[in-house]
Order: sequence, then structure tokens, then C-alpha cells
Amino acid sequence: MSKLYKSLISDGYVSLSVLETTDLVNAAIKTHKLNEGAAKTLGGLLTACAYMAGCLKSERGAVSLTVKAEGDAGTASVSGDINGHIRGYIDGACNGKLHGGYLTVIKDDGFYRPFVGTCELVGNDVSQNLMQYYDKSEQIPTAIAIGVKMQGGECIAAGGVVMQLMPGYTQEIMDAAEERMQAFVNVADVVEKYGADGIIDEFFKDEINKGQLYLTFPEYKCNCSRKKIEGVIMPVGKDELYKIIEEEGAVRVHCHYCNTDYEFTRADVDKLFG
Ligand SMILES: [Zn+2]
Repeated sequence: MSKLYKSLISDGYVSLSVLETTDLVNAAIKTHKLNEGAAKTLGGLLTACAYMAGCLKSERGAVSLTVKAEGDAGTASVSGDINGHIRGYIDGACNGKLHGGYLTVIKDDGFYRPFVGTCELVGNDVSQNLMQYYDKSEQIPTAIAIGVKMQGGECIAAGGVVMQLMPGYTQEIMDAAEERMQAFVNVADVVEKYGADGIIDEFFKDEINKGQLYLTFPEYKCNCSRKKIEGVIMPVGKDELYKIIEEEGAVRVHCHYCNTDYEFTRADVDKLFG
């Protein structure tokens, strides 16, 4: 089971998140049959997305991160909602290499227009890219350590620790947070050793008031459904759909996130417009 702990530390000036996402990453590996490089990168992005989804406030909130790298490096996209349902895909051919392109974050809190932030990729590391995003786009000092550890084609540990400074923080608080992040330079190893529960106990116990420790369970879950796909193909129009069926035997829609194929026959289309 994947976990996301959230709490305030340092007298309320630091918002702490601790993630254990091993199961989430393994679900993605299974869904997409990922190679090791792709699993590491997509796993990192899924973990980042689980963190960001955990920061959403509205019931209809959703967040997505898309990476478009240049040249032979690939494309990856993850999205999540306030229920902690996270999904994603990666262009497997790129072996997880992401550089020389852009990271785009779309955050929709369900109230106003979605917030869109784009920044240039600074390297292959998800933590670095996300920190840069927070610095440049949201202008909130955020320290992020996200890691994925693979062995024999399987993820044996994935997760992260995030410290985000709250308004009114002092230089002293910032320095202290940076200092504490040093313990999580190899965060996948720390997750492997302690798990999310253990990280809270081992590193933050004295500071966290038990009543203010929030735990949620992010999971790999797609929000597609036959009903939703019907809504996507309807606007194509009855005649055009008939034409596709004549030429290709059926209308086929593939969901990249969960690798599900939806097929619509002539009878299905008749029913749709009936
Ligand atoms: Zn799907």
C-alpha cells in the first residue's frame, strides 16, 4: 500500500510530506511493462504527482505533469486527483531519458482557471526538475527528494520527502530545513530501510503532534470508463463513426494511462445515437 503523510513541522513554518510509493510504481511497471530506465523516470513522476495531488484542496481538483524532452528522449505524462488516484505513461523507447525539453504542470483546483506552469528541464532527475518548477513557477521554496530503486525489473523502494516553506519563514528555518534534507539525499534507500511510517518515527517524531499527522493512500488508478470514452467519440458524429467502422471494423480507442482498449461496433454506435 502506498502512503502519503503530511504534517507541519518547525512551528508550522515547514509543510512536510513523506511518501512511500513502491506499490504505485510497481502497478505502473505492470500496466506498461516498463524497462528499468522508464520505470525510474515514470516512477519519480508518479511520486511527484502523488505529492502534488495531496496538496489539492478542492473536491474536483486535479493535477498533471507532462515532460516533453528533445531528440531521442521521450515524452511522459502523469495525472492525479484529490482522491489520490494517480496514473501515467511514458514513451518506453526513451529508456527514461528526459533532458533538453520542458516540464509542464497543470493544476486545477476546480475553482478558477487552471494554473499552468512550464519550465525547462534541468536534467534527468525528477526532484531537480520539480524543485525548479516550484522555484520559477510557484515561487515557493520547496526542497524535494524523490527516488526510485529498481532490482530485477521490479521496484523495491520508491518514495520521497518534501519540505515546503510556509509564509513568514525565516532564514534560520530555511537553513534548518535544508540541513534536515541532507538525510534524504538517497531517499529510495531511506524508504527501503524505514518505510514512510519509519521515516516519520525516526526523523520527525519529536516534532509532530499526532493529531496533526495526515495519512492518505495514493494508488495507481485510471479514471477512464466506457461512459467517458462514449463522451469522447460522440462529437465525431454518427456518419464519421460509421465510416471508421466500415474501414477498420470498429471504432477503437486506447487509454494510454491504463492500457485499456475500448471497442465500439455498429450496434454500439446505433445505441449511442438511438
Ligand atoms: Zn484508462
